[in-house]
Amino acid sequence: MNYRIISVTSLMQNCCIVWCKLTRESIVIDPGGNFEKIQQELSDLDLSPVKILITHGHLDHVGAAIELSKCYKIPILGPQKLDKFLLESLLIKSKDILLKKHLDFKTHSWLEEGDKIVLGSLTFEVIHCPGHTPGHIVFFYRKGRFLISGDVIFKGGLGRTNFPKSNYKDLMNSIYMKLLPLGDDITFIPGHGSISTLGYEKINNPFLQ
Ligand SMILES: [Zn+2]
Repeated sequence: MNYRIISVTSLMQNCCIVWCKLTRESIVIDPGGNFEKIQQELSDLDLSPVKILITHGHLDHVGAAIELSKCYKIPILGPQKLDKFLLESLLIKSKDILLKKHLDFKTHSWLEEGDKIVLGSLTFEVIHCPGHTPGHIVFFYRKGRFLISGDVIFKGGLGRTNFPKSNYKDLMNSIYMKLLPLGDDITFIPGHGSISTLGYEKINNPFLQ
């Protein structure tokens, strides 16, 4: 598996391009903004994505999804449907502010726990990890020991739970019941900040002590 992280939006969200070395099929995960920057990176890598995956319904994770979807004529998959209210509120907000390009944001398919995304020789499993948002999902490449974790866990931090329908207890359950059991050796790319491993966070993350 190959990947490239692109920092997008003023919140420095980690948009991630992932591709299969064998088939060169690629996906874009959480294109939160800066459409031209993402497009340029894809062009530099000589990749044409086949899907867009979304971890959760916050604007800094979905902001450029529609433009990418239209440009490459590819579907948007995710998040889990409990984030529908967030995506709908983006539409309402976008009528007031200068976000007209998000007016027609909609996913082509919600994703559920256990769904699988196949990308050439790679398979990503969908794991539902509510807490930061109720419909937050993460993408796990079991064979490669690799996780795209969105805003559930960061290097040295946790996803915020002071948003509408966020829930701290759910977030901790997601981390302790679903993520940490995947194994200490799992490398994860969070939605913001540096890459880390679950084992490192278990020992060093101040919120997990
Ligand atoms: Zn978020």
